[in-house]
Amino acid sequence: MLELLTERFSKAFAKVENSRKLTEKQINDFLREIRSALLESDADYDVVKDFLKRVREKALQEDITKKVSPFEHLLLTVYEELVKVLGETVSELKKGTVLFVGLQGTGKTTTIGKLAKYLKDKGFKVAVSSTDVRRPAAMLQLQRLAEKVGVPYYHFDEGLSALEIAKRSQAKAKEDGVDYLLLDTAGRLHIDEELMEELSSIKSAVSPSEVLYVADAMQGQEALRIAKVFHEKIGLTGAVLTKMDGDARGGVAFSLRSALGIPIKFVGVGEKLEDIEPFYPDRIAQRIMGLGDIQSLIEKAQQAIPEDEAQVLATKVLTGSFDLEDLLKQLEFMEKMGPLDKLLGMIPGLSAQLKNLKIDEKIIKKKKAIIQSMTKEERRNPLIINMSRKQRIAKGSGTTISDVNKLLKEYEEMKKLMKKLKNAKGPIGIPRLPF
Ligand code: GDP
Repeated sequence: MLELLTERFSKAFAKVENSRKLTEKQINDFLREIRSALLESDADYDVVKDFLKRVREKALQEDITKKVSPFEHLLLTVYEELVKVLGETVSELKKGTVLFVGLQGTGKTTTIGKLAKYLKDKGFKVAVSSTDVRRPAAMLQLQRLAEKVGVPYYHFDEGLSALEIAKRSQAKAKEDGVDYLLLDTAGRLHIDEELMEELSSIKSAVSPSEVLYVADAMQGQEALRIAKVFHEKIGLTGAVLTKMDGDARGGVAFSLRSALGIPIKFVGVGEKLEDIEPFYPDRIAQRIMGLGDIQSLIEKAQQAIPEDEAQVLATKVLTGSFDLEDLLKQLEFMEKMGPLDKLLGMIPGLSAQLKNLKIDEKIIKKKKAIIQSMTKEERRNPLIINMSRKQRIAKGSGTTISDVNKLLKEYEEMKKLMKKLKNAKGPIGIPRLPF
């Protein structure tokens, strides 16, 4: 996600990175590049204009503290303004009845399934229900998802109106002591009056804690246009952006908050139930700027690595004593963490360079086999691995000598990268470019 912006921002920054002073012309050229990157990403014209105006004003102001270089000043300005445009803080989901609105095919039903799992995993009591009476298949889809997640789906006799289903679902949720009732609404291929009236009457009847607009990121500006109509007619409290995995541009993420004044609360990043993440403006800003998404990476890693082991690994990285034994452990964690290409995009500095790199899970297995065929001594001190040892390891792991060489080389490179990461710490809260 957001690859296009990341690439273009990184390029624009690289051009001014080594300048001791930044002239007004350089700043203007820089802003022009950022502008075309954002517009090509299908961001809203007015939002882009305002954003650039603010960046320009701040960037041209001299930093009187002189603590940072002109380049760092520009970098921080862009970062701060990006975070502002994206919404600054993470938005919590208010407990109660959460109404999901949006057009058909945007990923509404899938999102409800994902959120049901997300909230249930956080320990909340969740129930789901659907008022999409015209599309029994959609109701069935949600029912199946609920079964898969293991949360109740409130089912009512056929013939009830959408409004009646909404009211009864809410009453049942109260009775059951549910924290979040996730309520699906009718999906249409386009906006029509009838749909809006139905939604309005449901909203008045259940006074939802949230009305979330589900937007398909691939629709670009069209998603924003439709959101505006929903917001005017119904009143939204937030949005979920789906299919961010399939959209390299990300223009909607950039404009939605500023154009409508509603926060993006979650992003969908795949078709599976676990493919949903809270929307963190600071992390998205870092990602757009090619700073990588270190925080998401840390959190993801923490899910798979028991805390004390993570501590040990972190210490080893910092002291430079990371050996092949640790690499083996890390490969095991990676297997647990799921698709690697997603994880790689989160590593600082790697996002732009490794955009096209896809790692096969089979390769992890192969690497594990190679390390497992080494003796303890070899794992701790890879320097002793000579030709005859390599032959033995290749044979034992069912690989070739060149596979073994490749792994050893990668290990060396990883150590180098770790050194870089270790030195890449800036002042607290201020990310430093790793390139
Ligand atoms: P609805 O008509 O709005 O309820 O849409 P669905 O939930 O049925 O989703 C439509 C299609 O989008 C399905 O094929 C989903 O698997 C897919 N989808 C939903 N969310 C995402 C996402 O975040 N990423 C990707 N790649 N596909 C998604």
